[in-house]
Amino acid sequence: MNALSPHYDVLVIGSGIGGLTTAALLAKTGRKVLVLEKNHLPGGCVSTYPRYGFRFEAGATTLMGFDRYQPMERLERDLGLKLTKTKLEIPMTVWLDGTKINRHENLNDWITEAENQFGSYAQRDFWELSYQVAADAWEISYSMPYFPPGNFKDWLHLAKPHNLRFLKSFPWLMKSTRDVLESFGLTRNERFMSFINQQMLIASQAYSDSTQFLVGAPVLTYTNSPNYYLNGGLIQLPDQLIGVIRQYGGAIHYRKEVSHIRKENDRFSLSCSDGSVYHSEKVISNSTIWNMAEIVEKEQCTYFKKLSDRFQFGWGAFIVNLGIKDRFGSLDNLHHQVIFKNPLPYLDSVSVFVSASDRKDTSRAPDGWRALNISTHDPHPQIWFGLTDEAYEARKKVIEDAILDRIKIMLPLKDEDIRIHFSATARSFDEWIGRKHGRVGGIPSDGLKTIFRMASPRTPMKNLYMVGDTTFPGQGISAVAQSGINTFLRIMGD
Ligand SMILES: Cc1cc2nc3c(=O)[nH]c(=O)nc-3n(C[C@H](O)[C@H](O)[C@H](O)COP(=O)(O)OP(=O)(O)OC[C@H]3O[C@@H](n4cnc5c(N)ncnc54)[C@H](O)[C@@H]3O)c2cc1C
Repeated sequence: MNALSPHYDVLVIGSGIGGLTTAALLAKTGRKVLVLEKNHLPGGCVSTYPRYGFRFEAGATTLMGFDRYQPMERLERDLGLKLTKTKLEIPMTVWLDGTKINRHENLNDWITEAENQFGSYAQRDFWELSYQVAADAWEISYSMPYFPPGNFKDWLHLAKPHNLRFLKSFPWLMKSTRDVLESFGLTRNERFMSFINQQMLIASQAYSDSTQFLVGAPVLTYTNSPNYYLNGGLIQLPDQLIGVIRQYGGAIHYRKEVSHIRKENDRFSLSCSDGSVYHSEKVISNSTIWNMAEIVEKEQCTYFKKLSDRFQFGWGAFIVNLGIKDRFGSLDNLHHQVIFKNPLPYLDSVSVFVSASDRKDTSRAPDGWRALNISTHDPHPQIWFGLTDEAYEARKKVIEDAILDRIKIMLPLKDEDIRIHFSATARSFDEWIGRKHGRVGGIPSDGLKTIFRMASPRTPMKNLYMVGDTTFPGQGISAVAQSGINTFLRIMGD
């Protein structure tokens, strides 16, 4: 950037939902905000891209968080977002041992389904408790924006007398979800536990023994809040946040990968890989904690290296994208989790998540066709790096074939049903949106450790803040939106 370039109060590195949320909220307060995005599209893991006449989701496919105390409701209200969204009648269907289980939104309907599937023993008590604890957890996260705490001032905020009412939830922070299931005598039901653990993986990136119940309860009752489909794809959300940034005088520049952050006399200089340089007094990074050590100066490097060492594991994702004929009744419901008995080759995962475009949404697929995303967790994202192109393609094919074979229970695809198919790996996420080692989905829950060792949005470099799924102890769009709100409030408080 040269001397004639406009001045910005805040530079935001990355246009994931975390970065855009903070950017839009700051823009609304009158700060001049510029977002620098590596990609040619916004949204990071929440984006929608065109391919061969279809539009596919880049990562996330499900959207909730519009209930009381939930962050999407707050963003819609505070930023005046007008999302074109359709409420899903059945938020999710799970396929277990050849049986179809509908996760109804209405709690009583869901409990009836759970009792039919897993026996009536203790199901009602467990789900009613989960629902209650989840409601409390959402209220706590709404009311405690200074979490995770970074300094004495944050701790003082958390300890305000008004927050003492949340002490009643403390026991649920100390118990794992498995401990609670055990107290109901439910861990003896192997089929139920297989269901629970695969459901937990979707939104907590961990199983019931590593997820505290205060986090596990909202994860398990995710489908008991309204879930939505966004017309045209989830990219509608980053697009609308960018609309707010522009409305208040801010901007986004695409294909700007920040490769170096330097601070001199209270002013930051951000260098991009195309040679451009931007300056401002405040910077917010939506990059991951694993990436930051590579772009800050030596003195700050130690801090981010320490953080990276603290959280050495992160899941990758393997995604199969398909354009298929619209002839399958099972796709009347848009989201499905299919659980298998045996692990997939290379990935060791025993479930996939299948999401379809809405039948009526012809912006995502031609009439009579549907765009399909099938994703699964990859515990070994490193296996995709350093391969020859042939070995890379061959490995992808083995997994793709195995996945298509395993989902026959809900989707018996024949060759003539498929117009196009291609897949994405950890390498795609690393190259496309710069997620180091292809790790996605945030920091997997690992009991109390994760919650209390999480990085604060503040960093040792004054006026450099972090936002996103590696700096907030929760996963998914709602969690990163909350992280965006918290980073915004922290900046305003400072
Ligand atoms: C396969 C998959 C399925 C998922 N499913 C769901 C789901 O159904 N529902 C749900 O709620 N959540 C889901 N998630 C999780 C959720 O999408 C993510 O946790 C969340 O969107 C992450 O947002 P973020 O703001 O932290 O960062 P990202 O989405 O990672 O965004 C970061 C942005 O910063 C840019 N960037 C990075 N480094 C630089 C740099 N140096 N310079 C400039 N720009 C940079 C990137 O290009 C990117 O656009 C899923 C994730 C994946 C991968």
